[in-house]
This record gives sequence, C-alpha cells and structure tokens, in this order.
Amino acid sequence: MKNYQGYLIDLDGTIYLGKEPIPAGKRFVEQLQKAQLPFLFVTNNTTKSPAVVAERLANEFDIHVSPETVYTASLATIDYMKDNNRGKKVFVIGEAGLIDLILEAGFVWDEENPDYVVVGLDSQVTYEKFVTATLAIQKGATFIGTNPDKNIPTERGLIPGAGSLISLVETATQTKPIFIGKPEAIIMEKAVAHLGLHKEQVIMVGDNYETDIQAGLKNGIDTLLVLSGFTPKSAVPSLPEAPSYVIDSLDEWVIGE
Ligand SMILES: [Mg+2]
Repeated sequence: MKNYQGYLIDLDGTIYLGKEPIPAGKRFVEQLQKAQLPFLFVTNNTTKSPAVVAERLANEFDIHVSPETVYTASLATIDYMKDNNRGKKVFVIGEAGLIDLILEAGFVWDEENPDYVVVGLDSQVTYEKFVTATLAIQKGATFIGTNPDKNIPTERGLIPGAGSLISLVETATQTKPIFIGKPEAIIMEKAVAHLGLHKEQVIMVGDNYETDIQAGLKNGIDTLLVLSGFTPKSAVPSLPEAPSYVIDSLDEWVIGE
C-alpha cells in the first residue's frame, strides 16, 4: 500500500449503511484523525448541508468531524458556478441542502432569466418547476445537473434520484447538462483542490464501483473499493477496470505510518 497524503471518502455504504453503523468505517475515520491525515467526505447527496451531515454523523454514528470535512455535490456546484463566472442569477430545482447553500454563496433567485438552471434531487418537485427550468434553458441559461444518480436505494426499493429528474429536463430542452457529482471530473478536481493536494497524493475510498471507483479511474486518482455496501464481492472478478485495491472491510486498510 502506498502512503497516501489525503483521503476522499464516500459516506453511505462506506462509513455507514443507511441507518446502520459500519463499525470499521468509524474506526477508519478515527485512524485518519489520529494520524492527522486530511480527508474529505465526497457525497453526491445534495439534500443535506455539510453541517447537517456532520451533525448526523455525530448523533447517529458517534463519528465526530467538522462540517468542513464534508464536500457535497452542492458545494461542488457552487464552486463550479463561481469559476465559470457566467453570472449570479439562478433557478434551482432541489432541496434546502442545495438551494440555501447556493443563495448563501451570493447567487440570486431568478425564474425569468437565470444564468444557471441547477437541477438536483427534489422530493417536492412539481410540473411547474420543470416548466420554469425548461423555459429558462431554452432562453439560454446554462443547464447544470448536480449528480447523475438515476436511483436512490431505499427500504421500498429503487426510487428516482437526481439523474431521473435531470433526464426529464434534458428531454424537454434537448440540451445536455453539465454534471457535477461523482463520477464526474468537476467534483473530484474541486475535492482534491480542497485538500490542498495533487491527484497522485490521494485515494478515493468507496463502496460503489459505478460512482466512487469510476470517479477515481476516470480522473487519475487511485481507488479503494470496500465491499461493505453497493458493489457485491461477486461482481469484482468481472469489473471492466480493476480498482487499485479491493477489501472486504476498512479494518484491513493500514493507514500510512
Ligand atoms: Mg456509497
């Protein structure tokens, strides 16, 4: 194992599983803290702010981190729009974890002529919101999709994720969105920059081959697939491109010493 100087870490399926703790996940975070190695939780979930995620980690899983260690697709969207510098006017389909952060970052709500239309997961989405987004993109607004996840696994089964909502707007506008979240380059590049490191110095840790591991493979970042969540052990031999490392539990990973 290489001694990585920073860790990018997925949350659900890696550090906890739905509402259940993953004890090895908690120990892994504590090891990183003890070794004073910088890490960032990189999550496609835009519905919760970093503060809410950190609070949940503390209250439900006894994992104590500052909100600054949580980098959501909402933050990456904001960082992208700031860099892209097209303007400050936005229309957003999303929940508080997306909308509040965008407005707090200095963007202004505009349903008529926004510079950006951002589409993320919104459990209160309505036809009228899709109408507003569609018309604004047709008038020239830049179309951003927060994350490509088509489904969210729940106790009830696979329910529609942000990617499904984004697809509707894509169909209605015949316009391809700019995707921000894993496995896209934008969130990974911004996350590495947040750590103040280079791609070669960090490793992406996650349970989902399609998002976490692809995010590393597509962007020149080493990857650690942990078989505690989404991707089953049976799928490993036939993966199109192997992760740098595959382990059953994060307890098997030795933090650089
Ligand atoms: Mg996961």
